[in-house]
Amino acid sequence: MDFRPELSWEFMSADEIAARTLRALRNHIVNVKECSAFYRSVLSQAVPDDIRSIDDFTKLPFTERDNMAEQSSRFLGVDPSHIVETVMTLGTTGKPLPFVLTAGDLDRIAFSNALSMHSMGMTPADRVLLLSSLDRFSMDGMSHYRGAIMTGANVMRIGVGTTMHDLLQKYLQFFRPTILIGVPSELLDIAIDSRKNGFDVAACKVQKAIGIAESLHFKTMHLNASGELLEKMWDAKVFSMYSATELSVSYCDCEYRSGAHSHPELVYTEIVNDKGKPVPDGEIGELVATPLGVEGVPLVRYKTGDMTFKVTGSCSCGRHSSRLGPILGRKADCIKYNGVIVFPHNLSNALKAMEEIKDYQIVLENDTKGADAITIHVAALPALLEKIVQTIRSASGMYIPVLISNIPTIQAMRKESGVPTPIIDKRGDRVVKSA
Ligand SMILES: [Zn+2]
Repeated sequence: MDFRPELSWEFMSADEIAARTLRALRNHIVNVKECSAFYRSVLSQAVPDDIRSIDDFTKLPFTERDNMAEQSSRFLGVDPSHIVETVMTLGTTGKPLPFVLTAGDLDRIAFSNALSMHSMGMTPADRVLLLSSLDRFSMDGMSHYRGAIMTGANVMRIGVGTTMHDLLQKYLQFFRPTILIGVPSELLDIAIDSRKNGFDVAACKVQKAIGIAESLHFKTMHLNASGELLEKMWDAKVFSMYSATELSVSYCDCEYRSGAHSHPELVYTEIVNDKGKPVPDGEIGELVATPLGVEGVPLVRYKTGDMTFKVTGSCSCGRHSSRLGPILGRKADCIKYNGVIVFPHNLSNALKAMEEIKDYQIVLENDTKGADAITIHVAALPALLEKIVQTIRSASGMYIPVLISNIPTIQAMRKESGVPTPIIDKRGDRVVKSA
């Protein structure tokens, strides 16, 4: 396939993208009603000609992962003889779900990844080292491989390589990759272990790293502790890429790192609140996506369970596609604090990254009105209070009370709750363990 990223819809005006999107969604509804038994029944009342605006489209029902788990064969959009690959996706819920793809779907994934990689600056001059998995419940390695090849870059596959230090060192020394693709925590482990073995990866002149599966940014779009450490250890600029098997599409930071660009010819992206209504740009909600052009398992308004927000304003890179903020967590793991969605594990990660904090405890409770409340207890010097409050503000986007405490008090608190983890959830009758 000839890769011509400059012809992508994302470089068209916002109005042109909107007009093309509406036509594509209308065609998509015609198609899924023809080829998918599930949508033939679910959308029996939906007439494509009635979809005259995006508002009309957003009245269509959502598709949940449970729908697919319970009736996966009814989602099949092609004759089984056209399936060329079957993967088992765990999603972020951990429950396996079979997912099938046609040859056209594989080409489509390659195109999506190539557009993403082109946006973060990958060119035919790059040498790309893939550290993502080609197997084990993942399409990541395959999609990154196909995408990078499509950009014209020179690609080497090493897989998830944290246990192959000698081999990895040889790749880094002789192949001299300019771009890495892998899971941030694994890239960090590699850097730390290599340094312990007397090999500094920062000297390898890797220029960029694409982080998958884990977030590298705070809500404010600044790099989080993991992102900062990754940049420092590898001396490389880091970029986030988000994808989900069910969507067969990728969202990626461009060179300006001001949100992960969508590819409007391949997906229509929505953010909705807990009532299923669209939220304004910038407001946190659940990512709902309608992948376009999928043959094997076509979907309409798929609820990913991932929480993020749309980034407002135009991007300096010249693309006019909608952009996602960082994935802040799973819908099931968030709480509402003073009307704002907060992810306690993000607070925990921020506190964990501060060396000056000897121990901490995050306590979730109901206040006197039954609303969610958070209190953070830290074992640290009182002089650090302002810095800790600012760190929490960066991680959550809001002020959350922090109490200076000490290790024995925090340990007693943990012992009393019976929950030996940094987050205690005492809301309602619950005492829930959380990492
Ligand atoms: Zn951009």
